[in-house]
Amino acid sequence: MPLDFKQRFFRLLPAVDKILREKTLLEVGEKVPRGLIVEAVQDVIAEKRSFIRRAASANELELLDLSSAALAGEAQRKIEEKAGSNLRPVLNATGVVLHTNLGRSPLARAALEAIKAVGASYSNLELSLESGRRSSRYDHVEELLCRLTGAEAALVVNNNAGAVFLALNTLARGKEVIVSRGELVEIGGSFRLPEVMTSSGAALVEVGTTNRSYLKDYREAITENTALLLKVHTSNYKVMGFTAAVRSGSLVGLAREYGIPVMEDLGSGVLIDLSRYGLPYEPRVQDLVATGVDLITFSGDKLLGGPQAGVIIGKKVFIGRIKKNQLTRPLRVDKLTLAALEATLRLYLDENKALQEIPILRMLTLPVETLKTRAKGLAAELDGKVGSFCQVGTSQEKAKVGGGSLPQALLPSCQLTLRYPGISAGKLAERLRQARPPVIVRVKRDMVLIDLRSISEEDDRLLLDTVAGLLQEMDYENNGGMVRK
Ligand SMILES: *Cc1c(COP(=O)(O)O)cnc(C)c1O
Repeated sequence: MPLDFKQRFFRLLPAVDKILREKTLLEVGEKVPRGLIVEAVQDVIAEKRSFIRRAASANELELLDLSSAALAGEAQRKIEEKAGSNLRPVLNATGVVLHTNLGRSPLARAALEAIKAVGASYSNLELSLESGRRSSRYDHVEELLCRLTGAEAALVVNNNAGAVFLALNTLARGKEVIVSRGELVEIGGSFRLPEVMTSSGAALVEVGTTNRSYLKDYREAITENTALLLKVHTSNYKVMGFTAAVRSGSLVGLAREYGIPVMEDLGSGVLIDLSRYGLPYEPRVQDLVATGVDLITFSGDKLLGGPQAGVIIGKKVFIGRIKKNQLTRPLRVDKLTLAALEATLRLYLDENKALQEIPILRMLTLPVETLKTRAKGLAAELDGKVGSFCQVGTSQEKAKVGGGSLPQALLPSCQLTLRYPGISAGKLAERLRQARPPVIVRVKRDMVLIDLRSISEEDDRLLLDTVAGLLQEMDYENNGGMVRK
């Protein structure tokens, strides 16, 4: 009689009050509001009831632990899940090193320490310790930026889009800015740079065609209303084939003839020549400064490998005017960002230190042989744990720099591959995304690829434990499972 065996298990379910008196939940009660705990316990009981209701035989239920201690444990896990942060660390196994949706660059240890020190305490953010007078928050990184780039002056704001906006608003509001049609880019989240620029109050005068612009195009567009010649790094795409673009140096020459400044939105901004490490050549910020460009803007959290910020460097006269613009205030950089940026920039004083300690640079320049060795070791260990029910292997697909920089750049890389018979790679990717910590992967040829190019070596152990743990859990579910979910 099916009803009878179910009744027996229903009667085994402890009362809510009894579960709430378990030690685990009493301890949780010191930190979490009671309402949340009661809700979690009720959810656990409801789940058990529905599980019992669906059971086809008593056998299926024999393994069920319905003690109040076990149910309290389950409730505690639910509470932890709910009370945990929404914004939390994930393992980036996508192979896209600068992944905008995953927060672009992880910070160097020195940057984290600086954030902690400045965040936990008062600081000399706007106080000169020498004179005891009020000072500017912008001073803390200006000298360092000038030293690293050769620029006369510098200013840091909230992000690079803000930097471009502020510079145009200061130098070109109500006037014309000449820019090549091939450089009017849309950046992530259908966010169009031309629209940011226009809202600064500057009128964009587009010259040339999508694939070709010449110096004479700029020259012909110059009028008495021209305030600026602008060059934008086409960071997330490349015009190929029959192309022509005007070099920064030539633009500077033209601008000098007419006494107007040149600005370049560099997007990413590198301080190290990465072509020495197998990446495509990107002009360094300091090379661009040397061509005489008057203002340069770039992000703090792209190839620089620091916190989100917009860096503006260039000639003193222009930076001085930008600093006085009232809009600097709504775009101002906060103290935690400044702390992290200063610490990151200091690492660049020694190039080798920067390459070792700035996570983005380390990941981008790691020899593929190292990745292969790691992948082999991890695959062998994973296979030992889950090989009886899941196919584990390695592959050598390319990884990407990403993040609106070096659009063509593919990096040699190495991946762990997973195939779980009976479960699609898409479904497996979804389960990995919901693991703790989440593991974000890509799917190719119905296989899950776990790319090690975007995983720091320090996280290899965590990656392995998380993936193995999840696969074992899935195996458990498959084998008559759900019993002790
Ligand atoms: C990424 C990028 C921006 C925007 O920078 P944020 O720091 O994300 O605001 C602007 N211009 C170019 C060319 C870019 O590549």
